Amino acid sequence: MKYISTRGKTSAIDFEEVLLAGLAPDGGLYVPENYPQFSKEQLRKMRSLTYPELAAEIMAPFTNGCLSKMELTEMAKQAYHGFSHTAVAPLKQISDGVWVLELFYGPTLAFKDYALQIVGRMFDAVLKRTNRHITILGATSGDTGSAAIEACKGCPHLDIFILHPHNRVSEVQRRQMTTTIASNVYNIALQGTFDDCQAAVKALFADEAFRKKHDLSAVNSINWARIMAQIVYYFHAALALGSPDREVSFAVPTGNFGNIFAGYVAKRMGLPIRKLVLGSNENDILPRFLETGVMEKREVRPSISPSMDIQVSSNFERLLFEMLNRDAAEVSRLMGMFRYENSYQVKPDVLDRIQELFAGLRCSDEETKAQIRDVYAAAGELLDPHSAIGFAAAAKFCEKEVPSIVLATAHPSKFPAPVREATGITPVLPSRLSDLMTRRESFTVLPNTLDSIKYFVETASQKGALND
Ligand SMILES: *Cc1c(COP(=O)(O)O)cnc(C)c1O
Repeated sequence: MKYISTRGKTSAIDFEEVLLAGLAPDGGLYVPENYPQFSKEQLRKMRSLTYPELAAEIMAPFTNGCLSKMELTEMAKQAYHGFSHTAVAPLKQISDGVWVLELFYGPTLAFKDYALQIVGRMFDAVLKRTNRHITILGATSGDTGSAAIEACKGCPHLDIFILHPHNRVSEVQRRQMTTTIASNVYNIALQGTFDDCQAAVKALFADEAFRKKHDLSAVNSINWARIMAQIVYYFHAALALGSPDREVSFAVPTGNFGNIFAGYVAKRMGLPIRKLVLGSNENDILPRFLETGVMEKREVRPSISPSMDIQVSSNFERLLFEMLNRDAAEVSRLMGMFRYENSYQVKPDVLDRIQELFAGLRCSDEETKAQIRDVYAAAGELLDPHSAIGFAAAAKFCEKEVPSIVLATAHPSKFPAPVREATGITPVLPSRLSDLMTRRESFTVLPNTLDSIKYFVETASQKGALND
């Protein structure tokens, strides 16, 4: 399988390069040249597979020529072995026609583990084979950092540096990053905001000498391999409810549009999905777009669902590419407008095509808490604020005659304050994390300057070289 850029100005590359590259050199995102197809007969056979077996089956056509189905099966077994629910991604019925897919049984209690745990192993395998050593550099406002650190800790072929804004992430989120003690993990608490962290990472990637010297790489949410690994649980849930012989709809709390885009790909591969509905907090760029066809960026406002406090949904570019019938020149034009004017508009026929499948709801913090309260009262399911927004979106847009599956993206104990305010109950951390608040932490506070970060990375890498 080859991959092409949504902006059309780079040559096609294979999976191994896509895995390590992240962003395409022309500024676009990589997508597969075509979507593999599964027939109804093939899908019915998949119903009997375990989660790791299904993962290998779904991903093998995408990694063709780089990782075999056998290698994928082995990686998936290891990746999901430590998850704290035997079903890996259990599906629970909540009410008539509504199910919840719980995606919080990985090491850091958010759905990002489902992709990063296996993608980390792919990095390891590919780097080992090519005898390369890379430096992963990333900025996090919360969940991505810990999931990436958990996935990469102890890998001898890479060092990972994660920047978080000093004193601006929740204590649980910080501790999930800083208590992972491994010789290749470096936590930097930058004296600045999340935007400063992200700007610093971008500047270091743009510094060609630095990027080449350290072989910089990223595991952010635009990495195709993460999307690919997320397709699996859409199949897993729909097959359990009778697909391909029964249609289903999904409701997904969204930030960067990565998770829900994986659902779109599942549909393109043959899964009968009626609707994909998304929920956002007051940072509602996507619901506004779905109503009007105008993508317009505004200021980011903090909310009780911080992992969705985003105003630029990077992965939306992939959907745009498909909805414009893969017209890369038009994607480039629109993305250029967005960059320089903070807004673009699609034509009415394009909006019609998008609205056939997608709908989006905006939820205020108060509405989110009301949803947590209502679902707990009706079904005894304690939701985190992100997942609650998914429920609100399903209630508004999913048709009654089609089963709807809401993706629960984090464990409620990761965001205890709003859950307590809504229900009076303080969700407790799972037992394997019960000592999180007393574990030893390791992080370095750095001033908000590029030089200080560069110096830190240089020094740390030299130490690594001596140890090797
Ligand atoms: C990252 C995250 C999201 C948003 O996912 P996207 O792929 O960016 O849409 C939603 N909920 C939680 C808990 C997250 O950590």
